Amino acid sequence: MPASKDPKDVYRSIGVRPAISASGATTAYGGTKLRPEVKQAMNDAAGVMVSLDELNAKAGEILAKYSGAEAGLVSGGSASGLILQAAAVIAGKDPVKMKRLPDTTGMKNEIVIQNVHRFPYDQCYRAVGAKLVGVGDYLRTLPEELEGAITENTAAVAFLDAQFVSPRAMRLDQVVEIAHRHNVPVIVDAANMLPPRANLKKYTAAGADMTIFSGGKGMRGPQGAGVLIGRKDLIEAAYANAAPHQAIGRGMKVTKEEIIGLVQAIGMFVEEDEAAEMNRYRKLAQRAVDALIEIPGLEVSLVHDNIDWLVPTAVVNFTDKWRGPSRDDVMKRMTQGDPPIFLHWLAGPDTLAVDPMNVDDDEMEIVIRRFREELMKAN
Ligand SMILES: *Cc1c(COP(=O)(O)O)cnc(C)c1O
Repeated sequence: MPASKDPKDVYRSIGVRPAISASGATTAYGGTKLRPEVKQAMNDAAGVMVSLDELNAKAGEILAKYSGAEAGLVSGGSASGLILQAAAVIAGKDPVKMKRLPDTTGMKNEIVIQNVHRFPYDQCYRAVGAKLVGVGDYLRTLPEELEGAITENTAAVAFLDAQFVSPRAMRLDQVVEIAHRHNVPVIVDAANMLPPRANLKKYTAAGADMTIFSGGKGMRGPQGAGVLIGRKDLIEAAYANAAPHQAIGRGMKVTKEEIIGLVQAIGMFVEEDEAAEMNRYRKLAQRAVDALIEIPGLEVSLVHDNIDWLVPTAVVNFTDKWRGPSRDDVMKRMTQGDPPIFLHWLAGPDTLAVDPMNVDDDEMEIVIRRFREELMKAN
């Protein structure tokens, strides 16, 4: 019998250190661990030739079925989904306009967005030649501001749903009501909002015309794939602008095995018992809470609110009574050990969190030991 091979060796053999990500579904730290059944399906799919048009059509129907939308398309991740959203609302299926992108001179090219919804990925809209028109301020967006920003040049209104986005933003249903009154589509980025599974249908049900989700985040499908769903005519336009066609989306090719992997992943994600999944995460996160809660100067809690914390997470707050090394130093030293350990750091400058999504039992042991070690070090 051949000696069982350590999967980590594929990385070690080229000098890359296998890491632990307690950061959640963070692309820069490896995204998520693929479901084993997804790996198997991708492996099977990789060695068989098919028509990409046929495959994309069938895969799209499946995404539509699970999300309650008219149509769907597997995109090359959510960032690619944003590019395709913009291409669809600006150029549609017009071959002359499609070819001219990102030069949008003379086209309806404005995308209205609440200023509190500006985000790092809105560059994807601008990459297509869209001009972003910001409305509102940090306190509120007035209906009149949104309404007044919509002109004959408006291609869409963009809406972001994400962790830590301002709760003061105008709600999606109101945005939809105003945009639709002017016959303008609403395009939604909900890349990271799964689980909860109910979110798969939520945005479409609220009237969104196109929505994206990442395939490689909470769904635990291929990192390079995403779910783009929405109105049939817009999804058709998105596909016209996407690979395998020679259009602006060609650089974001999705392979046959990624498409199959995503279809497999969304099916398994929908079927999976959410309560059981959350219980698994809760047990893991609680271990981190128990190990850190007595450390003076830290405020440690288990949080799961389906807004900022979509899975039960151990959240560590460095209070003003904290006398140990700075949060940034702790975080940095964790990444410099072997294995490198990545924690969740996006909640604010005084917070670190242990997200259990990609951490198994043994890895949690290591995370806890290393985290305690670094916290206990004198400054
Ligand atoms: C992760 C993320 C993206 C990008 O998603 P990819 O699938 O990695 O391309 C876009 N928008 C938001 C809000 C995200 O969280």
